[in-house]
Amino acid sequence: MDFAPRLAPSIHRVGTESAFEVLGRAQRLADAGRDIINLGIGQPDFRTPDHIVEAGVKALRDGAHGYTPANGLPALRRAVAADLEARHGAPVDPDCVVVVPGGKPTMFFAMLMFGEPGAEILYPNPGFPIYESAIRYSGATPVAVPLTADNGFALDADAVLDRITPATRLIVLNSPANPTGGVTPKDQIDRLVSGLEAHPHVAILSDEIYSRMLYGGRTHTSLLTYPQIRNRLILLDGWSKTYAMTGWRLGYAVWPEALVEHAVRLCINDHSCVNAAAQHAGIAALTGPQTAVDEMMAAFDARRRAIVERLNALPGVTCTDAAGAFYAFPDIRGTGLGARTLQDRLLEEAGVATVAGTSFGAHGEGYLRLSYANSLDNIHTALDRIAEFLETRAP
Ligand code: PLP
Repeated sequence: MDFAPRLAPSIHRVGTESAFEVLGRAQRLADAGRDIINLGIGQPDFRTPDHIVEAGVKALRDGAHGYTPANGLPALRRAVAADLEARHGAPVDPDCVVVVPGGKPTMFFAMLMFGEPGAEILYPNPGFPIYESAIRYSGATPVAVPLTADNGFALDADAVLDRITPATRLIVLNSPANPTGGVTPKDQIDRLVSGLEAHPHVAILSDEIYSRMLYGGRTHTSLLTYPQIRNRLILLDGWSKTYAMTGWRLGYAVWPEALVEHAVRLCINDHSCVNAAAQHAGIAALTGPQTAVDEMMAAFDARRRAIVERLNALPGVTCTDAAGAFYAFPDIRGTGLGARTLQDRLLEEAGVATVAGTSFGAHGEGYLRLSYANSLDNIHTALDRIAEFLETRAP
């Protein structure tokens, strides 16, 4: 007899991250012999620096094969606290640091803690798709805070404050941002934090996973530096992007004291702990030389300048100066093609993988995300192909 699963309705509310689907399609085309340049996936194309890999290998050789404390090795949590203090100048208690497998679990945990039917959670749109997906899964109502190209996709504090209601439980912030590369300037964060004083019931999840990836002399303002909101701030960061460690599955959050216990319980229920060798590698990353990070950033910056210039030279395309992360988010409305159509046709006809802006929310229509985590040569070849496509085949 056929199995007719009686699923909880919430499972049908889970969304996805289309970049992974594009990656799968690009891989299938490449396996079939097509030459595909991948500007779709959001991961550094660099290898994890050698000294970090060696620390992981050594940990395995030395017998780090068992469980660790659910919140992470004490030495790793101390290293995280020291790194945050050094970078942001804000004190961090290692006991408030919870190490998790990547950046994503913290989002999910925050939504599980705050989301339920009737609750509202604010999130950036276009934004990282897992925010909206996890909010919907929790049963809460996602309230989009639109980001627009006119201010380089920076968050507008008033756009957030205007959307707060008595039902608002949590607001999600992300700077530097995926998919736009937008960076929220300090004056907007100041304004937001002072506006939040009138809303003491609202918690904040600040996703700062790209906090070391800014260009053109811009600086990062961490929400950690505002003592007045520390008792309701969840700070998300990790190793994936900064140290080219996406596959190691290593991230962390600094939780407010009142929530640490709940976060650790969710870890125990969900994954017990992060694998021990990855945690040892994480210590080496934070405490070892940072030259590889600086070299990666210099390479990203050169690519960023090249891709923005090339995009602005395309017919029907304009692109803001991408300020952070490693994404360009051009306005493609002048091409006469919708975001999804252009994504699909560029993949099929030009052999270039990109991600439609609509994969990041309804406000992403008319935009395309190109990740410049690829070599300069490949970026130029991809842009040659896109130019040829737009000049000869579109719409
Ligand atoms: N937050 C943002 C804004 C991201 O873009 C990503 C990954 O693309 C993550 C979090 C998740 O990172 P991880 O791979 O460590 O789970």
